[in-house]
Amino acid sequence: MMRSFAPESLMMSHGYKPELSEGAVKCPIFQTSTFVFKSAQEGKDFFELAYGKREKNPGEQPGLIYSRLNNPDLQILEERLALWDKADECAVFESGMSAISTVLLEFLRPGDGMLYSKPVYGGTDHFINKLMPQYQIKGLGFTNSMNEEEMLALAKGKNIKLIYVETPANPTNALFDLKLCRKVADQLSTSESPVYVVVDNTYMGPLWQHPLELGADLVVYSATKYIGGHSDLIAGAVLGRSELMSRVRRLRTFLGNMAGPWTGWLLMRSLETLKVRMSQQALNAEKVADFLRDHPKVSKVYYLGHLTESDPQYQIFKSHLTCAGAMVSFDVKGGEKEAFRFLDSLKLFKLAVSLGSTESLAEHPATMTHSDVDEKDRIEIGISENLVRLSIGVEHFEDLIWDISQALDQIDR
Ligand SMILES: *Cc1c(COP(=O)(O)O)cnc(C)c1O
Repeated sequence: MMRSFAPESLMMSHGYKPELSEGAVKCPIFQTSTFVFKSAQEGKDFFELAYGKREKNPGEQPGLIYSRLNNPDLQILEERLALWDKADECAVFESGMSAISTVLLEFLRPGDGMLYSKPVYGGTDHFINKLMPQYQIKGLGFTNSMNEEEMLALAKGKNIKLIYVETPANPTNALFDLKLCRKVADQLSTSESPVYVVVDNTYMGPLWQHPLELGADLVVYSATKYIGGHSDLIAGAVLGRSELMSRVRRLRTFLGNMAGPWTGWLLMRSLETLKVRMSQQALNAEKVADFLRDHPKVSKVYYLGHLTESDPQYQIFKSHLTCAGAMVSFDVKGGEKEAFRFLDSLKLFKLAVSLGSTESLAEHPATMTHSDVDEKDRIEIGISENLVRLSIGVEHFEDLIWDISQALDQIDR
């Protein structure tokens, strides 16, 4: 009898055969551009499969050809990453943005429209609102206060082909109801022209939210964040069912925006500690958020663990997430001056954008990550001058709290 192991138990071994690599216990870095065929016939067989000219024979494995098409460090990584979200397939990219832009380019055509949750990551926002219109593709933003009728009204006559959702939203942890998005997508779908739901799960995945189980068709990640987890690489990933992933993979082959073997190897190393890292980060975040809630110089804390049953977001939290995550934002009393004073006084937290890493990071969304967002939108979303965003790392929580406490003390009010 065989037991089905949890993903964290498989991150050290899944998909790797030591006998193919001199018995090495770890997958080596396959730093090679091309692979030798045993025979001309084998080369022909591999190409037929890779270019989709025929179906796989029973038990046939796709052969290694050329590192833009496939490489063992990427293939093994993709098989491991797919376990967390229980996806058929995964494709790894050289950045989160290349993963996102490849999906949008594959599933949208001139004349199409897309609904997207507001706010989305700055780079995604730029791609949707500045680049896609050059290809006659229109993005229409929706907020988490809109209901089914309002979303359908927004979509009316817009030839919607995709609903793109980032949840929780950055930097205020606003949650979107993925089941509602699925329902709207189904209403807008026709038999010839399905509407797909794509979810950016960077903030919560792959551990704490599984959008494919909540009705999404594809999940995208910036693997630069929790998956990489050490602030030492840039990468992205897309996951979903084979039918859609073969389209994503094909466009990746021809755009050539796959990650290289070195990045693949680093990400495999990162996946071995994913569960312990993220679990510790979430525990630390809870301690930090509780400390901030009770502090006299803090007026508001944005932390999912503080939602109460009376909050409309609570039901989404309970049905979508298994954890409150490790991102904590808060309003310091005052304005930009007070927020900057706090940030400049930190001794252990690093003042930097990005998130999900082993070290704790702090930043000022209004002038940094979200400075490009329309001022009107910024106010609507709650990105004020006094908002500070923290990404909590794996340090001792008492040291983090000490640092926050002494930095808040530096604000003279
Ligand atoms: C960082 C980030 C991205 C972009 O990823 P890169 O790896 O920087 O290209 C996309 N979405 C979210 C939510 C992010 O935080």
